[in-house]
Amino acid sequence: MEPSWSLHLLSEVLSAFSTDDPDNLWDVLNRVAESVDAEVCAVTNAGRMECCIGLAEEERSRVLELAPSRPHTMGISGGTLCSCWAPLGGERQLLIGRIDVPFELEERSLLRAMARSIELSLRMLEAITAERQARRDASHQARHDPLTGLPNRVLVIETLNRWLQRRPGLMDKPIAVLFIDVDRFKWVNDAHGHAAGDALLVHVSRILQTAVRRDDLVGRLSGDEFIVITRSSSRDGARDLAQRIVKAVRKPLRLAGTELSHSASIGICFAGQTDTASTLIENADMAMYRAKAQGRGRYAVFEPILREQARERLELEEALRHAVDQMQIETHLQPVVQIRTGQLVGFEALVRWNHPRRGLLSPQHFISAAEESGLIEEIDLAVFSAATAAVARWQRLPGWDHLRISSNVSARTLASADLVKRLQSRLMSSGINAAQVYLEITETSLVDDIQATGDTIKGLQDLGLKLAIDDFGTGYSSLLYLKRFPVGLLKIDQSFVADLGRDPDDETIARAIVSLARALGVQAVAEGVETADQEKRLRKMGCECGQGYRYGRPLPIAIVERQWFGAAIPVQTRS
Ligand code: C2E
Ligand code: CA
Ligand code: CA
Repeated sequence: MEPSWSLHLLSEVLSAFSTDDPDNLWDVLNRVAESVDAEVCAVTNAGRMECCIGLAEEERSRVLELAPSRPHTMGISGGTLCSCWAPLGGERQLLIGRIDVPFELEERSLLRAMARSIELSLRMLEAITAERQARRDASHQARHDPLTGLPNRVLVIETLNRWLQRRPGLMDKPIAVLFIDVDRFKWVNDAHGHAAGDALLVHVSRILQTAVRRDDLVGRLSGDEFIVITRSSSRDGARDLAQRIVKAVRKPLRLAGTELSHSASIGICFAGQTDTASTLIENADMAMYRAKAQGRGRYAVFEPILREQARERLELEEALRHAVDQMQIETHLQPVVQIRTGQLVGFEALVRWNHPRRGLLSPQHFISAAEESGLIEEIDLAVFSAATAAVARWQRLPGWDHLRISSNVSARTLASADLVKRLQSRLMSSGINAAQVYLEITETSLVDDIQATGDTIKGLQDLGLKLAIDDFGTGYSSLLYLKRFPVGLLKIDQSFVADLGRDPDDETIARAIVSLARALGVQAVAEGVETADQEKRLRKMGCECGQGYRYGRPLPIAIVERQWFGAAIPVQTRS
């Protein structure tokens, strides 16, 4: 019999590998079989069928039992299978089979000669497949968050942009972007460890995935920020969704043996005609900030005014940065007196911004911008330096060595890693007695970040500094913290002092704080004392110290120096 095939089919076979879909080995075998007039074509590997065409399942295992490399015949359902083997490389064999027509010797040797090329082609095929898979994996990785498996920022923006382009037909169903931020996530991470933080993030991601509809998108933007994009609901529907998420997240989660209660804040933005993915996400982010400012654990909807406010804020931050560089930040001091005797016991340092255009600004105008931009640490330290330097100078005057100074520190400053080191160098250079130096922090900043600030507070204690708990009574203090930390002063918030004599509740609270202070062995300082009546009542309840306009307003250091120590200051040490 004339060999039915020849060398020309090598190119035939090889061309099979250049199909558009090289993943399909099955397709390749078909082409091989076709070109050699065979009904059966298979690749076996170490006694396993890698791919096979033309044989029924049970016939395959029988074929595998045959010794490869030798021609065989075997009865199968369609007749007699005449097979011919060629080694491909490694343990791989190529099997060609024809029904009832045996292979000529010439055909067999041709097949063996071709085997190497087929093997090469198979390898190429595998490499292409592997590379495609790797590319697919890499693309998946580049677009997904490894922790939660959710789409990441890249994929979220890609998808949102795609949806926005298709928008016109869907105008009756507006696209809404929900920006979700886990409240106080940093605190969970610090207090319970990263594993707990990760578990919380996965938990939140599951909540989001169950809350949305099938064709909505849930993604993780970064850290504790998630996004939900929904296009299948009305505006009210998006609000309901946000409300449901807020509620679901609020349910306590048991983690690492403790019950974790947490919340999320959500900003919603509805897509307008001209919005891009990035502006929508930015807007939703701004709305999320508003939700946080309104007390966290809630949602807020974007309004254009938020953008305006954000711009003003940025400008303010920019100006503030400049102010810090240009020494426009001033330290003012307000006296603290012993109520019973009226004697000066020390000062509280209060910051002012001497704005070139707007004049002297009080902290309410710039503290929150300073906190958000991180400038607060510089500011707190500048105020601390100026105040301790002045008071150190006055302590050296006869009769004033007991003079104390307290300086405000924001939670953000307290969280800074090198605060202790920086304070230490300032204490040293001023030469002040650290036992007379207090840092005023609010109750909330103590409790908020207990783990993160714990080490810092220990370091402050080692420096000999003490804490004054500011605005006491307005936050949520725990007696435990008061005992744990080196607290030296409790400052009764001025809101309680203001209504003394008018509101019996405030009177009760003030009295309770005074006795709490006494029980803890710390001094109570009433803030915002303005009238003789307030003073009288405070004296009667046994409050030791007072601070307020009745005793003196906050004034620049130079003026304070002249007022209180003018006569005592030798001319050469005056600044
Ligand atoms: P605070 O620590 O509670 O300071 C007391 C505030 O009450 C000061 O306002 C002070 O001027 C005002 N005040 C004092 N006596 C009276 C009074 O008799 N009546 C009334 N109505 N008010 C009185 P100020 O200086 O505007 O400071 C506001 C807040 O800004 C401070 O509240 C403090 O929380 C913060 N702050 C001030 N300086 C700094 C600083 O250097 N760093 C940080 N982080 N925060 C500061
Ligand atoms: Ca204060
Ligand atoms: Ca205060």
